Amino acid sequence: MNRELEQRYRLLHGSDREAARAELERIAASGKEVVIVSACLLGVRCRFDGKDKQDDPAVARVAGEAELLPLCPEVLAGFGVPRPAITLAADGRTATDDRGQDVSAQLDAGAGLAEKFAALAGATRALLKERSPSCGSSQVHGPDGLRDGEGRFTARLRKRGLPVVSEK
Ligand code: SF4
Repeated sequence: MNRELEQRYRLLHGSDREAARAELERIAASGKEVVIVSACLLGVRCRFDGKDKQDDPAVARVAGEAELLPLCPEVLAGFGVPRPAITLAADGRTATDDRGQDVSAQLDAGAGLAEKFAALAGATRALLKERSPSCGSSQVHGPDGLRDGEGRFTARLRKRGLPVVSEK
């Protein structure tokens, strides 16, 4: 990930919400198409296990010359890195971490903040990491293993009419 994108990720996920808002307005004013990308696909080590899932070919294929909006709904939710792994039940809302704690409200709050950021930046589509309880677009980790379904952030974006694809 280049320095500019890294700086953008930091601004958007830091504690200074005014700085985040200013960055989102700057992105919206760029005049370019804005594409949301799961931050872990860009090389940010924001996954539950402290690792990334950098996938430059997928980003190049899907986002091309667009302005990139790197977002991690679970960091925005305040879960931290590393964090307990989370599964999403078949109802698409009930989220439980691997300590058995119900984290549904917190997971959804992060998805809601990411959705707000996407709207402020004028994003029109998204490339999100498959299988995540936040970002999955056709499969997610459920309590009994992988299942068909979508994550909380994906569901919110689709409800707004934004197309979401995965890196697969
Ligand atoms: S919540 Fe999304 S962006 Fe964050 S680590 Fe999980 S898949 Fe990546």
